[in-house]
Amino acid sequence: MGTVKRSFPLAAIKGGPPVRDRLLPYSRQEIQPEDIQSVVEVLTSDWLTTGPKVAEFEEAFAAYVGASYAVTLSSGTAALHAAAFAAGLEAGDEALITPLTFAATANCVLYQGATPVFSDVCADTLNLDPDLLSPRITRRTKAILPVDYAGHPSDLDSILEVALRHGLTVIEDACHALGARYRDRKVGSLAHMTVFSFHPVKHITTGEGGMVTTNDARLAERLRMFRNHGITSDARQRQKAGTWFYEMVALGYNYRLPDVACALGLSQLRRLDGNLQRRGEIAKRYTEAFRGMGVVLAPSVRSEVEPAWHLYPVRIAEDIARAEFFASLRAENIGVNVHYIPVHLHSYYRDRFGYQNGDFPVAEQAYSQLISLPMFHSMTDEDVDDVIEAVLKVAHYLRAER
Ligand SMILES: *Cc1c(COP(=O)(O)O)cnc(C)c1O
Repeated sequence: MGTVKRSFPLAAIKGGPPVRDRLLPYSRQEIQPEDIQSVVEVLTSDWLTTGPKVAEFEEAFAAYVGASYAVTLSSGTAALHAAAFAAGLEAGDEALITPLTFAATANCVLYQGATPVFSDVCADTLNLDPDLLSPRITRRTKAILPVDYAGHPSDLDSILEVALRHGLTVIEDACHALGARYRDRKVGSLAHMTVFSFHPVKHITTGEGGMVTTNDARLAERLRMFRNHGITSDARQRQKAGTWFYEMVALGYNYRLPDVACALGLSQLRRLDGNLQRRGEIAKRYTEAFRGMGVVLAPSVRSEVEPAWHLYPVRIAEDIARAEFFASLRAENIGVNVHYIPVHLHSYYRDRFGYQNGDFPVAEQAYSQLISLPMFHSMTDEDVDDVIEAVLKVAHYLRAER
């Protein structure tokens, strides 16, 4: 492609024919007959909520990522909140966080009454820069929350080294990175706690749902207690033991994931490896198509990782307005998105903590150029062709305009 001079029809934003007749979403879930079958079986069983499927899903998931424990929660956000609780975050504490994430990563720290302290990202991966962390650590710092942006694992060895030196807990937000590898180890087995989401746009779905994995029995216990009102045993355990006694020892929530959802998660987990492989193929095709284009820069991948490709975020050349590129792709019926508005720039964070433009220049610069292209495992080859065609067409049109 690239080197061959070719012509394109009039851009859809100028009234020309769009590349696609119908919008291709940036992501969507995939449900198979076996998923439906597993859910129906639970609906007609004795347990709709905390029953045998919870433990089954947790065991299968822990085995998949290579962690000792996995604890289901009602969403990725609830999982982040539970991890913040388990790490002992409370009023007066601080936690270091990447600004280039979904607001939930920082909000979970606020739920515990602690303060999120942002720290800038690496220019290549857009993950938390380990070299910038130390100067931001105070006596009150208790945790670090790296995010594996787009599915590319954070530099965990370096972050864990900083954490060890200062006695901090690492809560890895791996909502983008289920199945990713870092130095030949699976994400989910590396940090003190790793958080996953099963929202429909993620690699596997339970409708709403989340998970925390850990190798620490005490943390696993605190997570289980937190999802059930801070009570030390659940209804099923009490029924088994034939006792009425329970004790609430901390302030928890109802963050339980029902059996119905766990059955769907178990069924989806069986197809995860195939899905990851398909996402890898799509990423490879995009990367090859955009090589040497100049206008569109593919995401970079470090040699020590195997990403899980939740998103495929490209960067648009600085001399082209991202908003124009975005609107032009939408007009071609390509469902692009932007991940993320840096969290510190939301008015809630600006007003409450006084953050401003320019505080985290690497994240902010990236934000001004980022566009996420459609990426989901049930995309067909024709869908991928359409995205590539639309990107080439829009790039050509916006370059020629100048
Ligand atoms: C999806 C996501 C969450 C929140 O997960 P929910 O299941 O929607 O609550 C948190 N952090 C990141 C980075 C996410 O992508």
